[in-house]
Parts: sequence; structure tokens; C-alpha cells
Amino acid sequence: MSRVYNFSAGPAMLPEEVLRQSSAEMLDYQGCGMSVMEMSHRSSSFQNILDQAQQDLKDLLALPDNYKVLFLQGGASQQFAMVPMNLMKNGVADYIVTGQWAKKAYAEGAKYGKANKLATSEDRTFAYIPDCADLPVSPDADYVYICENNTIYGTKYKTLPNTKGKPLVADQSSCFLSEPVDVSRYGLIFAGAQKNIGPAGVVVVIIREDLIPEEVPAFVPTMLQYKIHADNNSLYNTPPCYGIYICGKVFQWIKAQGGLEGMQQRNLEKAKLLYDFLDESRLFRGTVDKKDRSLMNVPFVTGDKDLDAKFVKEAAAKGLVNLKGHRTVGGMRASIYNAMPLAGVQTLVDFMKQFETENG
Ligand code: PMP
Repeated sequence: MSRVYNFSAGPAMLPEEVLRQSSAEMLDYQGCGMSVMEMSHRSSSFQNILDQAQQDLKDLLALPDNYKVLFLQGGASQQFAMVPMNLMKNGVADYIVTGQWAKKAYAEGAKYGKANKLATSEDRTFAYIPDCADLPVSPDADYVYICENNTIYGTKYKTLPNTKGKPLVADQSSCFLSEPVDVSRYGLIFAGAQKNIGPAGVVVVIIREDLIPEEVPAFVPTMLQYKIHADNNSLYNTPPCYGIYICGKVFQWIKAQGGLEGMQQRNLEKAKLLYDFLDESRLFRGTVDKKDRSLMNVPFVTGDKDLDAKFVKEAAAKGLVNLKGHRTVGGMRASIYNAMPLAGVQTLVDFMKQFETENG
């Protein structure tokens, strides 16, 4: 068996320990005589898995008591609709558009009320995060929306926007659990699992309880009401059981790595290695403003499309896969989520140095 270093933006690498443990439990989960995939979601075995995953996530986030954790389905994209359907009481929301995912969320929000584009970085192909210290937040906005880490462009908010008292809603899909977070500064956080915490099919929602509406407009499907899922502790219908089980294992793995502080240290070290090389390279360069660089997604280019393609191809032959940049940006992108080991980034940098010597 030979595993590659997978730099995919998602679905992405999972910790090898998690894959080993889950494969050891595949045929017979803890003496149940069946796999977690075959288990009733109403069984005590699954209830324990769900409770443990929820508790471990609460521990990792030091979650204040007035927040609920939900394990839902429909991916992060479904939250683009669920957020306005549930939170737009005044019918107004402000969006900061820093990439394709924020843009999609903004377009979805506009279907259910008045969505304002509060700020955008589209003028420079989303290569930076706008200054959000004093934006003209709408007086009647139900929330201010951000995509905290922009997977495609490789930017991240280093300071949260000043929302002037309005609840902050953040798509953390590509930076979830990558560093310590003060949840009390947010009204709602959501994250698709398939980058930092598990397999596609699970989306985690963390919502301040007072934002869960008792009533929603009649057109909102039952399955898209936060209250239904909160009241039923994520068991209103059959949840993505196996995905939740894997997420739970990843939460335990993160705890064993020193929690979110441990993750941050590990992620800073990996990102520094790659960014330092990009900054001194004669051939490669990063594509976004240094102050806004993501720890998770690192886009870079040579400036020559053919050379970029050659790099991606030769890297893959060395077991460094999925380095092709998003089609809207071109070049390369290395996604170095929590599970990517330092050795993976070191191997990439070593190969980049070699490629530079051969092609520079
Ligand atoms: N938000 C962000 C920041 C993403 O990176 C992605 C997926 N790459 C999405 C939302 C969409 O996620 P999903 O495919 O789970 O709907």
C-alpha cells in the first residue's frame, strides 16, 4: 500500500489514525456484530457515538452554554439557503463577498429577502479581504455574513468584521477547527465536513440559541428549520450516521494533538514552510495579499500556464496529488488542512525547489 500526499481542497485527507481505527471497526463495531453503517440511528450504540461527538466538539470549541451543535446534511451549500430562511426576520441581511462561495450565499440570500453587498474584493479577483472595521451595516440587518476562509482564493479573515451589534454568520467550511475560535463572537457558524473534519455528507452548524426561530415562513420545508433539528438533537430523521462517527473520531484525534491550540501550531508551521519558500522562490509566487493569507489553502503560480501544467503533472508522479488550482484562478493550489502532515508540506517544498532548479 502506498498513500499519497493529497492536496485536494475537499474532500480532503483524513488523519491516518482515524482511517485505521475505523477500518478496524468496520465489520464489528465494539462487539455489536455490525458496522456503524448498518446500525439503527435509534440504537444506544449510535446515540453514544452522537453524544460523544457532540461533547468532544463542545470541548474543542469551549462552547458557551447558549449555543447548540447540529449535525445536518445538504452540505455547506444548503446553509446558504437555511441561513436566510431561518434568520431573516426583518427580511434584510448584509453580505461581505470575498469569493465564489460568499457570492453564492449572497445570491441565495437575495431569494428570501433584501441581501446587501456590504463589501467585496472582486475588483482584484478576490486576492484580499476588505477592511471591515467600519462598514455601513444596515440598521435593520438580521445578520452580517462572511465566508471566513476562501477555499478557492486562499484568503482568510485575520480580524472579524465589526458587525455593529448584528449577529455574525460565518461559513467556516475550509478553516473549521484549524485554530482557536471565540464562538461567542458569532451568531452562527457552519462548516461542511469534507475538508477538516470528516467525509462529505455532514455539515456542522453551531447556532446561538436565541437565533433559532420559533416560527419560520410557511414555505420553509420542515427539514430546513433549525428548530426541528435543535429540538430533536440532530435526530429528527436518519442523520448521516457514518459521517458523524468519522467526525467524532477526528474530534478525538484533534484533542490528542493538543486541541485547537495544537492544531494552530501545526498549521502555522506547515503554512510558514510553504509561504517562506514562495516568498524567496525565483519561479513560484503566491497570488494573494500577504496579510490575508490562509493557513489552509495556498494558491501559487509560475506565471506560465504550460509550466504550471508540467509542475502539476510531475508532482502527481511523485505522489503529490491534486495540486491543480481552481479553474477560475489557474496555477496551483495546495490545500494543507489539519490532517496534512508537516512531512507532506516538506516533500512538496523539496519538490518545488527541485522543479525550480530544473526549470527556473
Ligand atoms: N463554502 C466553502 C468555503 C467551500 O469551500 C465549499 C466547498 N468547497 C462550500 C461552501 C460548498 O460546500 P458543499 O459542497 O458542501 O455544499
